[in-house]
Amino acid sequence: MTPTLTTGELLHEGLRRLAPALEQPQLDAELLLAHVLRTHRARLRSHPEEGRGAGERDRYLALIERRVAGEPLAYLVGRKGFWSLELAVGPGVLVPRPETELLVERALVLRAEPTGDVADLGTGSGAIALALARERPGWSIAATDLSQEALGVARRNAMGLAIGNVEFLQGDWFAPLAGRRLHLALSNPPYVASDDPALRAAPLRFEPPIALSSGADGLEHLRRIIRDAPGSLLRGGWLLLEHGAGQAREVARELVVRGFGHVRSHRDLAGEERMTEARWG
Ligand code: GLN
Repeated sequence: MTPTLTTGELLHEGLRRLAPALEQPQLDAELLLAHVLRTHRARLRSHPEEGRGAGERDRYLALIERRVAGEPLAYLVGRKGFWSLELAVGPGVLVPRPETELLVERALVLRAEPTGDVADLGTGSGAIALALARERPGWSIAATDLSQEALGVARRNAMGLAIGNVEFLQGDWFAPLAGRRLHLALSNPPYVASDDPALRAAPLRFEPPIALSSGADGLEHLRRIIRDAPGSLLRGGWLLLEHGAGQAREVARELVVRGFGHVRSHRDLAGEERMTEARWG
């Protein structure tokens, strides 16, 4: 195979094409090339003189073009880090976001006990359920999702991580949990208003609408979860909800109206109130 370019030259070309689209193109250029070459970033740097074939070049530059168009890096490499886990992700699930780790953090604080019945509603890739399962192997965790495709991704993640204390159930919010009583329920539901132009821009336009869009004000699903939660929570049980930056007041109001106490919102690393917790009974 006659090398057409070296690793260093390919990386340079990737960077050049990404630069107009991304503020910090270096990491993406390296991660995409490492993905195509099935190697690590460190190897690209230590051996920039290695020759690459036309096939590798074409596959790399095709991914670069998709990244330039705004497709999330996580879909292009099929993986995303969340909490301490490396998760498989694809276009059938929302890409896990760092701010969602706030739900995991608060769940671990609010329930220190080593056992408990817990549910992650709308689990997607399984990120929240699997992070909690890893931290609390004695918890019994139910992860629900309406999407069979998402449940497939989440189940494969559980198997790949050898996590056994999560069961996966298909259905709408609390529906598959009928008859159970939980110590803690948490969810990162869809909360984007259906006419929000962000849905038509990158990265959201590449992600499943079912995981994002939630009625005229974005609160439709949050309201349903809050309305139904008392039927599934134990007295003293906690509900933890992620929401959009401008939604904390309305979510807190809804929780109070429905009879929840200890209502408290928390800020993400960007300083925005992005999750609210509340106790039932
Ligand atoms: N975190 C996404 C965003 O605001 C929305 C995810 C969701 O609706 N749950 O870009």
